[in-house]
Amino acid sequence: MRIRIENLDKIYNNGKQALSKVNLDINQGMFGLLGPNGAGKSSLMRILVTLMQPTNGKITFDNFDLNKDRGEIRKLLGYLPQDFRFFTKLKTWEFLNYAAELAGVKEKKVRLQKVDEWLDKVGLFDVRERNANKLSGGMKRRLGIAQALIGEPKVIVVDEPTTGLDPEERIRFRNILSELSQQDVIIILSTHIVGDISSVCHNLALLNNGTVGFKGSPEQLINNTRGHVWKVNTSGIEYEMLKEKYAIISTIPSEEGWEVQLVGDSLDIENAVLIEPNLEHAYVYFMEYLTNKNEF
Ligand code: ADP
Repeated sequence: MRIRIENLDKIYNNGKQALSKVNLDINQGMFGLLGPNGAGKSSLMRILVTLMQPTNGKITFDNFDLNKDRGEIRKLLGYLPQDFRFFTKLKTWEFLNYAAELAGVKEKKVRLQKVDEWLDKVGLFDVRERNANKLSGGMKRRLGIAQALIGEPKVIVVDEPTTGLDPEERIRFRNILSELSQQDVIIILSTHIVGDISSVCHNLALLNNGTVGFKGSPEQLINNTRGHVWKVNTSGIEYEMLKEKYAIISTIPSEEGWEVQLVGDSLDIENAVLIEPNLEHAYVYFMEYLTNKNEF
């Protein structure tokens, strides 16, 4: 399966351009869509899952055209929206059973088996009799995953997956996705949290102000940042100056005052040492310095 997005624009009725000339090629595995709030991620997700029409542009899922073959494409999709809520009085297992029925799992015996399997996978088997509304935030999120996946979709779209989850739940969620990404599926994950784009995302796109600023592997993004991340030991006064001029990534108390990590194009400070960038450094560097450039 391959998804191609060509020259996609979205202009809302109020004139707001949320997406502008977006071109992306998405293949098997996990694809990360990273960008700050308001970048256009949800707009792109909603278009991809056929909930909203683009203003211009073309999207294909293999040979299916999103403008013409919406029904076919819907059968391939599992979607976990950002604000997934249940307006339901159903028990947890009943809700999942209903989702499976909607996803086309017709035979009751098979369906119930699937329901149990997924309750177990997402760690909700013990609370299967509980009303879905009464689950904790993390549990609801996991039920959200299960309902998106129970129909065995070929394309899974997850919008801001870890919002509102505690660290333990985040890890659990990432593990479920990472396990899935080993299979023959495309997982598209949108987030503003760099940590969500873990090592399992082999490809990512950075979205800013509705445009794609970078597309490629996390390693490529990090490579582009090498030579721009520094460590400086500094006193309090210098620190104020640094804060004005550079994007600070972290500040740790040290003997001299502070050990500061920052990103910059060049640095004219005596004791600054270049350090090896990670994905978070790369993201901050991109957002700070390349906002007004097209690609790097
Ligand atoms: P993200 O998911 O990255 O936070 P969104 O796609 O939600 O970004 O929003 C992109 C831009 O489009 C923002 O400026 C947002 O305010 C605007 N926007 C989103 N939905 C609508 C809408 N229904 N009508 C008008 N503007 C919208």
